[in-house]
Amino acid sequence: MLAVFAFVLGSLIGSFLNVVIYRLPAGISVVWPRSRCPHCGHILSPSELVPILSWVLQGGKCKSCQAPISARYPAVEALTALLFAAAALLRPVFPDLLFIWAFIALLIALSFIDIDTKTLPNSLNFAGILLGLLGAGLVGYPQDFPQAVDSGLMGAGLVALFAGFGGLLYNRLKDGPREGPFGLHLVHLAAMVGAWGGMLGTV
Ligand SMILES: [Zn+2]
Repeated sequence: MLAVFAFVLGSLIGSFLNVVIYRLPAGISVVWPRSRCPHCGHILSPSELVPILSWVLQGGKCKSCQAPISARYPAVEALTALLFAAAALLRPVFPDLLFIWAFIALLIALSFIDIDTKTLPNSLNFAGILLGLLGAGLVGYPQDFPQAVDSGLMGAGLVALFAGFGGLLYNRLKDGPREGPFGLHLVHLAAMVGAWGGMLGTV
């Protein structure tokens, strides 16, 4: 039962993540205005907003203008739904599960925004760090608070070190202005994953 509930909840959250993935990097509010077809501007009705099913029933096309709708929308919804259900099966404990779901949602949003824009918005990174510390502080899950602070700082520190060292190698061991594949956003991401570090061990 819990897994079925988790699947439905996950598909709804996935639908919201589609909005976040599209709007957050563009600097548009994620709650307003209502979702529209990007081709014809037709405002989507409730029957067109049912996760996964609307896309399937409409044959992947806008109801109004018949323009194709990317299969990525139902894919993100299905992925979120499946991961939510899997988490519910692996750890059917509250409030732990709420934190796992939040972490899954954050990672999906970050992954797709990274694919689209090659950036990791700090608003999501810092929300993740905060949630990780909050979970640790309030319920001691996935690890206790001192551990969460420790591993968060260690994750950030390690990536910062690798960034410095990687930059040095990238510049063929000449010191100078740092260039390379690492950015500060990766340090933030590492801090977030670190703050959640115990999860992999406990799930
Ligand atoms: Zn349309």
